[in-house]
Amino acid sequence: MAAAWQDVVRDAEAVREAAAVAVDAALLAGVLMRTGEQPNASDVVNYAPFTLLPSAVPRDLFEQAYAVQQDFNLLVDAVSQNREFLEQTLASTIKVDDFTARLFRIYKQVLEEGLAQTVVLGINRSDYMFDCGLEGTAALRQIEINTIAASFGGLTSRTADVHRLVLKVLGKSEEASQLLPNNPAKGLALGIAKAWELYGSQRAVVMFLVEEVQRNIFDQRCVENELWNRNIRVVRKRFRDVFEQGSLDASRRLYMDGQEVAVVYYREGYVPQVYDEQNWEARLLLERSRAVKCPDIATQLAGTKKVQQELSRQGTLEKLLPGHPEAIARIRATFAGLYSLDEGEEGDRMAATAIADPDRFVLKPQREGGGNNLYGEELREVLEKIKDSPERTSYILMDKIKPQPALNYLLRAHSPLQVSECISELGIFGVYVRQGRELVLNQAAGHLLRTKAIEHADGGVAAGVAVLDTPYLV
Ligand code: ADP
Ligand code: MG
Repeated sequence: MAAAWQDVVRDAEAVREAAAVAVDAALLAGVLMRTGEQPNASDVVNYAPFTLLPSAVPRDLFEQAYAVQQDFNLLVDAVSQNREFLEQTLASTIKVDDFTARLFRIYKQVLEEGLAQTVVLGINRSDYMFDCGLEGTAALRQIEINTIAASFGGLTSRTADVHRLVLKVLGKSEEASQLLPNNPAKGLALGIAKAWELYGSQRAVVMFLVEEVQRNIFDQRCVENELWNRNIRVVRKRFRDVFEQGSLDASRRLYMDGQEVAVVYYREGYVPQVYDEQNWEARLLLERSRAVKCPDIATQLAGTKKVQQELSRQGTLEKLLPGHPEAIARIRATFAGLYSLDEGEEGDRMAATAIADPDRFVLKPQREGGGNNLYGEELREVLEKIKDSPERTSYILMDKIKPQPALNYLLRAHSPLQVSECISELGIFGVYVRQGRELVLNQAAGHLLRTKAIEHADGGVAAGVAVLDTPYLV
């Protein structure tokens, strides 16, 4: 990929000056996070980590990622409605993975009771890296699709302004004017507002289901404030609050201390550690309710790594999206090699291949949130240990994507200013609303670019590895 800022990246004086401007601009623009020391108070806050310079992104791949987003919305929605597919695909996983098994139990339980709500709201983010082929041309490769709690749509709505200013300070006004506007917060709020409207009660609120530790509150506030601007009331509650205050009436309307809830927007609930028995009970209550869930439990399951791997199998997309050959072609063009480690010949062969050549692959468990995948020697060791045990089936194997690094500065509070070799991951937000059988909204809602130093194999912004960035199209 073109080294866009070769002339300034090694100019220490210019970089120092621009970094000082950048940090203050980020604070002014609201690119904020609470601190590790006081994660639940806004008295002391800091800027969220971000790159000094926007990163070069090939224009054609950026456009390709946008062009396939409505297709991915359609696909996730189709998977979430296909009980047979989910059952077959997750059968081997739930035998060995307790967390997925527990989610699956709730899924079956609510289906057996019958769904109380026919409106579905999906907010997802499809993430990609730019794989550098042998001929030097880059290809768009999907890393994963996040169907629950896809974050940073709020803060990233504010980073382009910061980078625009930085480029001007560095004497690059022409390039600054080319940075694209981007407002996922507005797009996500549009979807939530649509679901709220279809629920059909002026008095009912939107409930953000939030974490115990709320460092990333400002990202969520961006979306909340968009809803208040539309005169939609928002409340923030934790699973614990739902357990204590939540109830259903005879028609399964959800009430929190007497206040009716129209939409539950999960920003929590995707890692096993948050669920004690009370929180599982709270989750079940929400899923049984008439409130619109974003996502519902079926859609959360549609975002598992195991489903992603099965989607790449020959013929699967055709079964899930009959009559959509063009969408299928666009979707498949973004797939990297994905491999099952289920018991049997195929799994045996792939396990052996990965043990022989671990640097070609990434080993992924059914977990979200960064920092769970295995690479290189560690991948080899773990696979050696589990290759003959059923535990193997809780993982999938994926081709490792190798992007071309570029130099940048990662601005992080209390960290020295130093140049790093970096790679980026592009996310596209998707929003859709279905009522019964009809999709009434299906859109791409903006993008997120995250960048990290190459020495980190894994991890996102919340994990303290990647930082916020803005694409500069080349
Ligand atoms: P999570 O659900 O934990 O976010 P991901 O599949 O997104 O799981 O992986 C986490 C991180 O690991 C990604 O952000 C990316 O940096 C890295 N990663 C994941 N898959 C690959 C891959 N196939 N090639 C290279 N890096 C990968
Ligand atoms: Mg990820």
